[in-house]
Amino acid sequence: MLKPLEPCPFFIGGDWIESKFAGTPVFNPSIGEVIAECPVGTVADVNAAVQAAQAAFPAWMETPPVERVRILGRFKALLDENFEDLVRSNTREHGKTLAESRGDVKRGIEVVEFALGVPSLMMGEVLENVARGIDCEAIRQPLGVCVGITPFNFPAMVPLWMYPIAIACGNTFVLKPSEKVPLTAIKIARLLARAGLPKGVLNLVHGGREVVDALLTHPIVKAISFVGSTPVARYIYEMGTKHGKRVQSNGGAKNYVILMPDADVENSTRGVIEAAFGCAGERCMAGSTAVVVGGADKTVLPALIEATRKIKVGPTDRESQPDMGALITRQHRDRVLELIDAGVKEGAKIPADGRRLKVNEAPNGFFVGATILDHIQNGMTVAKEEIFGPVLNVMHMEDLDAAIELANKSMYGNGASIFTRSGKAAREFKHRAKAGMIGINIGVPASMAWFPFNGWDESFFGDLHMQGREGVQFFTQQKVTTSRWFSYGEGEIWHTGEKS
Ligand code: NAD
Repeated sequence: MLKPLEPCPFFIGGDWIESKFAGTPVFNPSIGEVIAECPVGTVADVNAAVQAAQAAFPAWMETPPVERVRILGRFKALLDENFEDLVRSNTREHGKTLAESRGDVKRGIEVVEFALGVPSLMMGEVLENVARGIDCEAIRQPLGVCVGITPFNFPAMVPLWMYPIAIACGNTFVLKPSEKVPLTAIKIARLLARAGLPKGVLNLVHGGREVVDALLTHPIVKAISFVGSTPVARYIYEMGTKHGKRVQSNGGAKNYVILMPDADVENSTRGVIEAAFGCAGERCMAGSTAVVVGGADKTVLPALIEATRKIKVGPTDRESQPDMGALITRQHRDRVLELIDAGVKEGAKIPADGRRLKVNEAPNGFFVGATILDHIQNGMTVAKEEIFGPVLNVMHMEDLDAAIELANKSMYGNGASIFTRSGKAAREFKHRAKAGMIGINIGVPASMAWFPFNGWDESFFGDLHMQGREGVQFFTQQKVTTSRWFSYGEGEIWHTGEKS
């Protein structure tokens, strides 16, 4: 018997609204079954959500910051209380392991913890006597209605990069989660409503391009936060800014991990395996290219190949957990397999081959085994495309200079890491690498909530990144007041004639 589909409502003005129309399928990728239908919203849905957010804005802006974050404090407590439920929902709709989902939800909660400090971070600046008797002050005020559009790969964390900070700053918000993973975002929004968030401060709409375009061009919307692939990120930035919005737009990536000959074999193998195959490679911070320098091809590389061949792949929606789960959809799985084939056809060696993996306990899951493509050359399809799957490219370089030069040719600039025992090599790499997040003996140097998530080049379009102080700056605008007071008539206040 077919299980009933999970509800996937809109959340507009404090009401949960079910769509009457068919939507796009949401899968449990571990078993390849549809678990929900994500409604395809319309311009009318966007108008309703933006108007609800606009109506809620004046009262929310006037709510003292400390009261605003008190609600986030209750939200954080509810996130902790419901942690395992969120983790299971995340794994069910995404396919990553429960351990990975715990990381996903935890990193999202950390942004809420960061947002609790927003009243301090919103504080302004004052300078007395900018000229004689004239003072100047700069304060931060919210923008109004802000929008978030998010990708499939971190169903809990990425939406939480955005709206806790936005609403702590006094904005109201419309979130459009990925149509592939809307369910965890809904569960989290329900918790925020339970925490006492006034109606209309957070709204949720679903859909694809039509909904996104309506948000990007809506005259009431002030700011857009986007996370997704580079072509869409560029489009969002261009379209949003053309319509007068403030935009921060995170794109895709291809991150290099440099393995020096002196790298500790055990730790660097563990670091690279985690970076390349964690979340089945569906991460913008995945270490997708290992650059093996000099003699590291005799030390770390063999260990890496051996460890990759041992990675257990399987369904994640049950108690016994594999090392790695499924990819998000059948189409994406097929694209990853095509890219591996293209790599082999163009001359790559394949010492770990995940193409013919059979998962007997879940034959319809969207699985690809952990794969290494060795002897990759710049110009090969797999060297250019973001594969976004469990595939590690390996390139060989003679020395650190050549490795840095190679990594710096990438059009992307999210992350870059080095594994070495040499402080000098690490310092040189940190200084010269053209990427916004650097790892030293760390495979996935994704910034924590207190720092900006700091992509460069084609990995980011905009000026102010998500998270950290930049996140607060993005969701606020400054007002500078210059004041002078004249003494005419004030004598009457100071000298009332009364005797004390
Ligand atoms: P995607 O670009 O396909 O979709 C992201 C969002 O944009 C979704 O909500 C989707 O509905 C919407 N969208 C898709 N196509 C659109 C179009 N043509 N016009 C308007 N809206 C559109 O990305 P994805 O496949 O969901 O996520 C994977 C990508 O996200 C990867 O490239 C990954 O590197 C990137 N990513 C980047 C970061 C980062 O911080 N830099 C973090 C996570 C993921």
